[in-house]
Amino acid sequence: MTPESFRLAGHELIDWISDYRNNLDQHPVRAQVAPGDIRGSLPSSAPELPESLASVVADLDKIVVPGITQVQHPMHYGWFPSNASLASVLGDIASSGLGTLGISWESCPALTEVEEVVCDWMRQLTGLSAQWEGTIHDTASTACLTALILAREKASNYAEMGAGLQGQENPLVIYTTSQAHSSITKAALLAGYGKENIRMIDVDPSTYGMSPRALREGIEEDLKLGRKPAAIIASVGSTGVTAIDPVDELSIISNEYDIWLHVDAAMAGSAMLLEECRFMWEGVEQSDSISWNPHKWMGTILDCSLFYVKDPEHLIRVMSTNPSYLRSAVDGEVTQYRDWGIPLGRRFRGLKLWFHLRLDGVEAIRQRIRRDLENTRWLADQIEQTENWKVVAPVTLQTVCVRHEPGNLSGEDLDKHTLNWVDAINRSGEAFMSPSIHDGLWMVRISVGVESTEREHLERLWALIQNTVIDID
Ligand SMILES: *Cc1c(COP(=O)(O)O)cnc(C)c1O
Repeated sequence: MTPESFRLAGHELIDWISDYRNNLDQHPVRAQVAPGDIRGSLPSSAPELPESLASVVADLDKIVVPGITQVQHPMHYGWFPSNASLASVLGDIASSGLGTLGISWESCPALTEVEEVVCDWMRQLTGLSAQWEGTIHDTASTACLTALILAREKASNYAEMGAGLQGQENPLVIYTTSQAHSSITKAALLAGYGKENIRMIDVDPSTYGMSPRALREGIEEDLKLGRKPAAIIASVGSTGVTAIDPVDELSIISNEYDIWLHVDAAMAGSAMLLEECRFMWEGVEQSDSISWNPHKWMGTILDCSLFYVKDPEHLIRVMSTNPSYLRSAVDGEVTQYRDWGIPLGRRFRGLKLWFHLRLDGVEAIRQRIRRDLENTRWLADQIEQTENWKVVAPVTLQTVCVRHEPGNLSGEDLDKHTLNWVDAINRSGEAFMSPSIHDGLWMVRISVGVESTEREHLERLWALIQNTVIDID
């Protein structure tokens, strides 16, 4: 394809995307396809000769769009919001169009330095002090894996340069809770800690945040057993019920025992754009690393996950395979981001954040997040005031965890009822929510925060839920 034919096709595709976004609420929220449907409607081998853009776009309409669960739909309340603001989409397109290669500062100085600047903008916007330096990873899963590798190497005094974990006399232990995201356990396994060495600390039964007392007891017990505490993973906005671990108290313990503290604020990080929410991660300045996802609520299109550390020298020492790069990075002359994470070749991810912030402006993003917090509070109030309805966990951010509990149902029967009504709604395509097990019983998470979700959509959802419960009885 030449630049001139790209120009024509590109305009057509942008028109198509704009139409799609305009009419997105006409589609069912959850994809209504069965496994294999999409695969079955595609040819089993690649075309030898070029096809027209028109035929490719026709298949987008006919095959691809029906196979999408529409997470940009205003009635999408599943998982967590995965907003893809169009301003950031333009940045992503620019990044692709430039076709840069990010393997070193020299291979694209702009890639490195725009990333440095936007990470610093985001640092300021979330109220973090100048002691933090950031990078952009693909996902929070990668950021957490990086953090646990950093913790491992700190606790083992750089064992990677010798026999690695295989040479350790005392097993390294990490501490988190049952509420933490599944990526934490995955990262611990991949970083070589071993499942036996993940200690799930009890949570406070009212907040579902990690109990500092139980953490201290766990650490003391491990020390007595000759195990080495290596990392504490604090969740600020956990996946199930957006629980908040008390970072302040955990940081005191992490400093006392010299244990790495990673703050996983993948979801809640967006709320830190609001000064009034920052109490939620009070103590974060005393942690060692932080990750959060602008690609969730804030709306910089996937993949865009921020990772901050206070001690880049340690990070580079662990991640770099070339000591000469260590020198230039510490000199503060240039940053070699390949030494800040796992991949060598990196995309120009800073551009989508740069476009998003510049084209939408921070104030509009803050207002949208405030709107969502208010709308969530409104919905929770409606549910709490309605007979037989229960909000089953504290509403800390934009997720309401609910159950319909008619007096005559409990245990398995109650679970069946919960799954029945949420399935009926999800199947209908009118709205989508994720059921989840909480304290041994199914509940339904209503996760607010899609860019286009307004109060009227929540009013519609609440009516739909109540009517569905009546209908299925
Ligand atoms: C979404 C989420 C993650 C994982 O995010 P990815 O970027 O998809 O890897 C981790 N932790 C929490 C608390 C999350 O909400």
